[in-house]
Amino acid sequence: MSIFGKFAALTDRYDRLREVGADPFAVKFDDIVSSVEGVVDGKRTLLFGTNNYLGLTFDEAAKERSIDAIRRHGTGTTGSRIANGSYKGHQELERELADFYGHKHCMVFSTGYQANLGMISTLVGKDDHLFLDADSHASIYDGSRLGHAPVVRFRHNNPDDLAKRLKRLSDQPGDKLIVVEGIYSMLGDTAPLKEFVDVKREFGAYLMVDEAHSMGVLGRHGRGLAEREGVEDDVDFVVGTFSKSLASVGGFCVSSLDGFEILRLASRPYMFTASLPPAIVSSTLSALRTLRAEPQRRDKLTANSQRFYAGLRNAGFHVGPECSPIVAVIIDQPEIAVAFWKRLLEEGMYLNLALPPATPNSSAFLRSSVSAAHSDEHIDFAVALMTRIGREFGLLPAENNVCPF
Ligand code: PMP
Repeated sequence: MSIFGKFAALTDRYDRLREVGADPFAVKFDDIVSSVEGVVDGKRTLLFGTNNYLGLTFDEAAKERSIDAIRRHGTGTTGSRIANGSYKGHQELERELADFYGHKHCMVFSTGYQANLGMISTLVGKDDHLFLDADSHASIYDGSRLGHAPVVRFRHNNPDDLAKRLKRLSDQPGDKLIVVEGIYSMLGDTAPLKEFVDVKREFGAYLMVDEAHSMGVLGRHGRGLAEREGVEDDVDFVVGTFSKSLASVGGFCVSSLDGFEILRLASRPYMFTASLPPAIVSSTLSALRTLRAEPQRRDKLTANSQRFYAGLRNAGFHVGPECSPIVAVIIDQPEIAVAFWKRLLEEGMYLNLALPPATPNSSAFLRSSVSAAHSDEHIDFAVALMTRIGREFGLLPAENNVCPF
């Protein structure tokens, strides 16, 4: 028996996928030609499976700043900030993010995953309690496993269930941290943030919101769900990533709570990994400025999301519960989802295949993310293609409805 024997069930599931000629984990882009187009197996392919919400991966200013940063400061920092020091760019980026959110403090991490890992594992310890939405992203769960706080899971997007669980522990000493997401990454639904804020206040807990998929997307200034819902003052920690609207890599946390800065000496995922290279810091700063200066990108993204969501819904697909740039088509039988995904790729459309057990409610679905860089023609092509293949696979039409986004 090999050391890999423990993965037998996983290997088996993966082999079955490959037997039908679909390997969603091995898609290779021969080329990426724009924010929304790539080449797969020699075929020009429309990208609907990125998180490139504002379409900034090919932004001229960001590319130029990045190239200039490499010329001036080199390709990498070759160490962590506590051991090797910070570059001016790290601090400039932190200042600008803090300013954008109107918060006093900001810490930048090397990925969004590490931002969650670093904050969640450090903010609460064994004498505290951590309250997680059941559908939390893997990075939130992993942060809870790296830390020592007892974890309480509450039903997805259910403030009453959270309140019930907080009540049971209300006589326990220690801090209580609630973690929710702005837009959930699989189905595109948003958290009922006002109600969560009411619960947080009632029980004197702290609230963290992961705005990974809502930064640049929601709110008048693009700060996310908390801005849209008018509850920013009640959110103690905002976590975000650079890998989606800001089109690079890295993560951050902002807060105005006094004492925050000590985390730089306590958060291991911040302390014990190399800091972001100058090229990344510079393109991220540039993208953040573009996000702030060009709200029309957000308007276009909203219009595109509505067009895509309404198009699929009106065609009769079972789509996610809310219109957002993440649009999921739910398909009851995983085999059909796999075959559907494969056909789409063959016909020049790439999106994400989400299969159980990695999905909420053990459903299979095709997950798309819309970009401001998609044109109406791109969206209409995608809706028409999915509708044609949907009919071929005998997926039933549902009633018409219009997107409320
Ligand atoms: N939080 C959420 C909600 C996410 O969806 C993701 C990544 N998809 C992350 C954090 C991690 O971000 P990154 O990929 O930038 O590390």
